[in-house]
Parts: sequence; C-alpha cells; structure tokens
Amino acid sequence: MSDKDNKYETERYCYVCKRSERQTGKLIKLPNEIYICPDCMQRSMDMVNSGYFGNFNFDDIDMNQINDMMKGVRPQPEVKAKKKEEKKEEPEPLDLKKIPAPHQIKAQLDDYVIGQEHAKKVISVAVYNHYKRVVTNTMDEIEIDKSNMMMIGPTGSGKTYLVKTLARLLNVPLAITDATSLTEAGYIGDDVESVLSKLLQNADNDVEKAERGIIFIDEIDKIAKKQNAHSRDVSGEAVQQGLLKLLEGADVEVPVGATNKNAMVPMTTINTKNILFICGGAFPDLEGIIKKRLSKQASIGFNADLKDKYDRDSNILSKVTVDDLREYGMIPEFLGRLPVVFTLEGLTKEMLVQILKEPKNAILEQYKKLLELDEVKLEFEDDALEAIAEKALEKKTGARALRAIIEDFMLDIMYEIPKDDSIGSVLITRSYIEGTGAPVITMRGTEVPRLTQ
Ligand code: ADP
Repeated sequence: MSDKDNKYETERYCYVCKRSERQTGKLIKLPNEIYICPDCMQRSMDMVNSGYFGNFNFDDIDMNQINDMMKGVRPQPEVKAKKKEEKKEEPEPLDLKKIPAPHQIKAQLDDYVIGQEHAKKVISVAVYNHYKRVVTNTMDEIEIDKSNMMMIGPTGSGKTYLVKTLARLLNVPLAITDATSLTEAGYIGDDVESVLSKLLQNADNDVEKAERGIIFIDEIDKIAKKQNAHSRDVSGEAVQQGLLKLLEGADVEVPVGATNKNAMVPMTTINTKNILFICGGAFPDLEGIIKKRLSKQASIGFNADLKDKYDRDSNILSKVTVDDLREYGMIPEFLGRLPVVFTLEGLTKEMLVQILKEPKNAILEQYKKLLELDEVKLEFEDDALEAIAEKALEKKTGARALRAIIEDFMLDIMYEIPKDDSIGSVLITRSYIEGTGAPVITMRGTEVPRLTQ
C-alpha cells in the first residue's frame, strides 16, 4: 500500500505498547504490516545488542517474544482490558458434569421443603437422570424419553416452591408460566413458545444456558379438554397440542428480550431437547375419577368391600394413573411426553407448623431476624404456632395462607415495638393469634418468662 493510500487510513498503533502514532511519534514499519514505535524499537535493539535473540533477522521476528520481553513496559490498563476480554470468551462454567446423586439432591431439598417425601424422591431421581442424559448426550438413542414431569397436588402444597428450590440448587435457569395464559399461536395471549423467551431472559439471553434450563407450567389442569361432548371447546386441547413439540424437543425461533414476536425484535433459535419440562396442577375432582375406577375394579371381583375404603382414603390422589388423567381431559400424546407422574400430599396441621419454623428460610426466622435488628427477642409459643396452622387450614390454600396470617398480626408488633426502647422480648401466644389476648412483653433487665420454644 502506498503512502498516498495510507493518508486515508485510521490511526496506527504500536504493536507492542499499543500507543497511537500520535502519542509515540512516527511508527516504524516492519514486515507483515506490523508497526513499532521508536521507544519499543529502541528497547528491542537494546535486547538484540545484549544477545537476547541470538542471530537476529527482522524477517523472522517473533512478536510473542517481543511481547514477553516488553511486559511491564506497556500501559497497565490495556493489559487489564485484554485480560477481561479473554475471560469473556471462556464458556460459562456449568457444573452439570457434577450433577449430585439423587440422595444428595433430596437432602438439599429437605432443607427447604417440608414433607412431600415421595415427591422429593421422584423429582431427585428424574432430575438426575435427565441431566445425566444431557451430559452424556444419549438423548437421541432414547428418543423423547426425557424425564419431563407431571406434578399433581393441592394448591399451596409446594409444587412451585419445589421446582424453584430445585432450579436454585442446580443453578439452572427457570421459567414459570401459567397454562391458562397460553393460547394457540395466532390468538390473543402468549403463544406456547413465549415460555422459551421467558427462559432465555432468565438465562441472561445465553442460549446455551437456556437450553439446559427448567420450564414449569402451572395450572396444567386448566387446559384439559372439556368433558362435555356437546360443546366443542378446543382451546385447551389446542394448547396441549401446541406444547407437544416443545416437550419432545424441537428447534424453536424465539424473540430475544421480548415475549412477542415482531419485526423489531431479533430472533434466535432454541433447541428444547435438553430443557426439562415440569407441569403442575391441582386437578380438582381427579379424586372422584380415581375412586370411580378403583371401585369399578373392586366391584368386579370379590373385593367389593374395598369400595368403602377408597371413600375414606385421604391419600387417594397418589393412586393416579395415566388413564385417570386422560379421563380428566389431558390428551394421550401430551401425557406420553410427561413420563414421570407423581403427587404431593395436602399439608396437615403438623406440616404447616413445621413449615413455619423448620426450613432454612422459615418465615418465623425472618421475623425474628427483623426484630433482632431492634434488639428485641421474638418468640412463639408452640400453641400459638398450632393456632396459626389451624387458621391456615381453614383457608384451604395450603401453606400460602401462613404468610398472610402472620403478616396480619405481626403488623401491630412491628409498628409498636420500635416505639419503646425498653422492650426486651415479645412472646406470641395462642390467645393473641385468636384475638382474645395480648402478646407477653418483657422489659429489658427484667426476668424473661420461661418459653416453650
Ligand atoms: P403450589 O403447590 O400451589 O404451587 P407453592 O409452591 O406456591 O404452592 O407454595 C406457596 C408457598 O408455601 C411457598 O412459597 C412456600 O413458602 C410455602 N410452602 C408450600 N409447601 C411447602 C412445603 N412443603 N415446605 C415448605 N414450604 C412450603
């Protein structure tokens, strides 16, 4: 290239110290379009003279050698910036290779999720198998046999909580969506593929990360086919149909940074083969279908007396089969892609009390910590905890009711206590929960009452 052409070039930089020609003075041109500033050239010559390069020839100049030699000469920030760039290129460390064994996954879930032993066991094994297949890449041989799951359990029994805890423990992105908000492509609402956009967002737009994430579709029972054969309502069924290809594994075009496709949004392709889908639902009236099936089977043989037993069995939901779910209105193709089916128990009073105080992030501990910041000790009588659990049971929304009940009576405490510096501890009693008494307040320096918990 002639000098005349070079006139229009952008500024040149010294290959070694990276300073611009304006800063260094005229650069010296070396073979292979390499430029070096007079300072760096001088240093190189000094090295040559000292015999560092042996028989030196500019034509086989080794810039790496010069770079090494010049370490410490370059301005520091540039070195740093380069380091940062290098770091960025490294793939995100996904420790899927170190997927914990099922018993370890369950042990970690135990720290947060109370009860639901069977569900925790099933989910731990299924997740382990799923990621083992992802890592060893044997998914193609086993075709469709992903460990996608169907989770059945009453409202507030911990379905969402279980999945959230799992995703956090495994450090994989999670997207939660409500089946009722999904519509067939082309209708108003989110089309089924929008769940992938959500997952991508939660994976910081990292496609590779998203492709190993978990998608939880809640309220799946709401997209059951309508039982009534006279009215042809296909919306639920169409959504089930729409979800089929995602569950099975497909390349799907999704918008980046938005849930709606439009001309302005860039698109990317996500393969759903390694995404773990978990569907959850309360399936009201499913018990009736199970009982009907069991009673029918029983009355055919000589076990007719069992019929009564099923009516009284509180754990009837755990006897669910794929046929029952089909009867409920889930289409066979959909069920076929959710091979792992399990149930969660309805929470008992004892479990609710445990939920209040035992998980790692228990609600009571959170409030205790808040008051601790005011140097006030907050305590609960065992009887008070039972009263809270009884109130929650009445609401029939499982553990969801607990927080609302506690927030309700803690409001006064959180408002009043900081007013008075002399308060040392507060004991919540059953009578306070039931609205017939007050909490026991103890002043600093006085004897703290004996507590039950
Ligand atoms: P759903 O089954 O309706 O999805 P969630 O998982 O949303 O219920 O439960 C609501 C809240 O109740 C959770 O955020 C969690 O704090 C609490 N919870 C429910 N079940 C449990 C459980 N088994 N152990 C601990 N906490 C629970």
